[in-house]
Amino acid sequence: MIVSVIVDVESKQINRVFDYLVPEHFKQTVRPGMRIIVPFGPRKVQGFVIHTKHESDVDPGRLKPFDDIVDVKPALTSELLALAEWLTDHTLCLQVTALKSMLPAAMRAAYDKRISLADDASRTNLDSALLPFFKRTGDVMWDEVKKTEPGLLKIVQKEVKNGLLTIEPVVKSRETKKRVTVIEPLLPQDQLLEKADETDARAPKQALLLRYLSKITAPAALTRLLEETGISRATVKAAVKNGWADQRQVEEYRDPYEGREFKSTEPLPLMNQQKEALDSICRSLDENEHRTYLLHGITGSGKTEVYLQAIDRALKQGKEAIVLVPEISLTPQMVHRFKERFGSDVAVLHSALSKGEKYDEWRKIRDREVTVAVGARSAIFAPFENLGMIIIDEEHETSYKQEEEPRYHARDVAVERGRTYSCPVVLGSATPSLESFARAKKGVYTLLTMGSRVNNVKLPGVRIVDMREELRNGNRSMFSTDLLDAMNDRLEKKEQMVLFLNRRGYSTFIMCRDCGYVAECPHCDISLTYHRSNQTCQCHYCGYHVTRPNRCPDCESEHIRFFGSGTQRVEEELKKVLPEARVIRMDVDTTRRKGSHEKLLTAFEKGDGDILLGTQMIAKGLDFPNITLVGVLTADTMLHIPDFRSSEKTFQLLTQVSGRAGRHKKPGEVIVQSYTPDHFSIQLVKNHDYLSFFGREMVYRRQSDYPPYFFMALINISSEDLTKVVTVSGKIGEFLRKSLAETTVVHGPAASAVPRIKDRYRYQCMVKYKTEPKLAHTLKEILKTYQTEMTRSDLAITIDTNPYMLM
Ligand code: ADP
Ligand code: ZN
Ligand code: ZN
Repeated sequence: MIVSVIVDVESKQINRVFDYLVPEHFKQTVRPGMRIIVPFGPRKVQGFVIHTKHESDVDPGRLKPFDDIVDVKPALTSELLALAEWLTDHTLCLQVTALKSMLPAAMRAAYDKRISLADDASRTNLDSALLPFFKRTGDVMWDEVKKTEPGLLKIVQKEVKNGLLTIEPVVKSRETKKRVTVIEPLLPQDQLLEKADETDARAPKQALLLRYLSKITAPAALTRLLEETGISRATVKAAVKNGWADQRQVEEYRDPYEGREFKSTEPLPLMNQQKEALDSICRSLDENEHRTYLLHGITGSGKTEVYLQAIDRALKQGKEAIVLVPEISLTPQMVHRFKERFGSDVAVLHSALSKGEKYDEWRKIRDREVTVAVGARSAIFAPFENLGMIIIDEEHETSYKQEEEPRYHARDVAVERGRTYSCPVVLGSATPSLESFARAKKGVYTLLTMGSRVNNVKLPGVRIVDMREELRNGNRSMFSTDLLDAMNDRLEKKEQMVLFLNRRGYSTFIMCRDCGYVAECPHCDISLTYHRSNQTCQCHYCGYHVTRPNRCPDCESEHIRFFGSGTQRVEEELKKVLPEARVIRMDVDTTRRKGSHEKLLTAFEKGDGDILLGTQMIAKGLDFPNITLVGVLTADTMLHIPDFRSSEKTFQLLTQVSGRAGRHKKPGEVIVQSYTPDHFSIQLVKNHDYLSFFGREMVYRRQSDYPPYFFMALINISSEDLTKVVTVSGKIGEFLRKSLAETTVVHGPAASAVPRIKDRYRYQCMVKYKTEPKLAHTLKEILKTYQTEMTRSDLAITIDTNPYMLM
């Protein structure tokens, strides 16, 4: 018996299966999807069993047996093994990278080094700093040494060079299971009580324990028993010895929601628009039909209730469901709604969980102890085997795209799995991505529309304030007169407000504070990036650059400067103008600690704050009845990041934030401050007009050959050696132009928007195409050409076949 294995060595040369013999004692247990330990050259590494077979192309005499099995149950199902292959093809990543990305972090292999005394070496010759570690043994693990003396690696390396020591990597299993000790009575209740009466006089503690045991029906945690009875461990030990009770270790799941009560909720009677959407989705479910639905529902239209009832239907058919939520830890309200409806059937996978907690939640899915997985991007790989429903909420969110290998988009993976299981996939959003909406219009996706809020609650009125006007009227503060008046009004009425500060794109673009002029590239229709180091404005798409202007080219004003301010400064300013307001600030600084995010939101919900001030993280998912005002401090910052999606992102974000106001009985109001109030992505927020926005933006995308009209691929080249980066990227650009079709556009090479990170210079080439059958082959060819150079030097080439980060 032979296994084909993908080994955990991240290198292009090793990106294929290797065959190993199955040792006799593993023949019954080894199965595809399991992780095993294999010898690889001089090392031991972890590998994934892809399949088992009886013959190999390799000469049987040269096959080596593998060493050990890591998993008791396969870590990956056969469907996920196939999906990994699909991922590898679509994102051009290594096979082992695809396999590993599907597992929780706790299961990714970690390696330690075993440091051994060389065969003929004597310990007396060793550097004295190392002697204490080799006093009694001939080898020691690096982790042990590191704990005491982290700086010793250099000396170890020196002694390896001197031939005194050898180093060998060993796999350590990082899986950590939480174990608890439990006690279980071995005698029936009456006998226990009888014994208790007998021992009462001479050993009262024993009697106490016997009575405790007589009362329990299931194994009890030892710590709890000790706490409640006050007896000692020795007493328990004696009882075990007497044969009255059994003591053993059991595995326990770490439950991140332990001790929390979720009141259970019942399905709500649906509004017509919800009912129509649900009926369509359920039809696909009932007929085992794969279909992707785009649920376009305005904020507060009741999309979540549709998700809940669709899932309920899938569960009733004995199927499972995956729900993706963006940055789930940021929207505890959302998690609660799922826990409240489906209780312990739900596993939650989000970034704020510890590695161990995530691992336990994942195991609940693998072992079918739950039927619903709610999580961020990687939850799309939940190892269910009978999927009936996949839902992606806020489908336009860019966090669904992974920005490291494998560079996949969860939406594509969802559709692929939906196809495999013949089940519906539901993409929900108030502001769908242009790609998805265009597909819905073409009939590739099925469009479902929910155009009004639940109970016909009105959308909030949106006012756009021209900040240039404010400046002309002598108001240099960050709050317009309108916004300040509105905030005072809410304070008086004891209503709550949200102040939103857009921090992305901070300080990178140049704007005239008098007329709103923003420096743009004459060739690419995107704003120029300000580079402080050499005082220039550059276009990172095509390489165009100019020196930073001192005067506005449009109005000659000197008030032209780069832009941005942080939440902390806003908070200070608020203290000055509204000293009595209680401000809750939410940004990366105040939410770093685990659970702090939720605490701040709960405080706000309870009314412990008047103003919730924050960045992107407060834009989504909040549903508080007392919020009647939303203020957006600078609507423009996002508009000018050098990205062709900047208008789309601006419109999405402003619509999202506006949706936080007046969701219940009290009417809401939104005030948007802007230096470019006439821009369509800001104007169209006023009437929450997605369709007009879509129409306008599509015209721009068509004119400039951007998605969804064109597909894109981005090739990044980086190294510490600038000359090498320039030469290599030049050759790659040439090769792309030579190899690809005439109709395909190749931009660059040009310096990336962030031209140097950690001393590495970064260049990029961009490919835009409609159909390009030779693309995959050409890109693979590039990786192949440079693979040797990439292992030998610090040259790095990364390829993204569906880029969202263009910097
Ligand atoms: P969305 O996700 O589209 O922004 P939600 O699902 O959060 O909207 O719904 C907004 C509010 O309306 C929530 O408080 C929700 O509980 C409530 N709601 C949803 N559907 C109904 C319904 N059919 N009847 C009554 N209330 C509903
Ligand atoms: Zn100007
Ligand atoms: Zn340009």
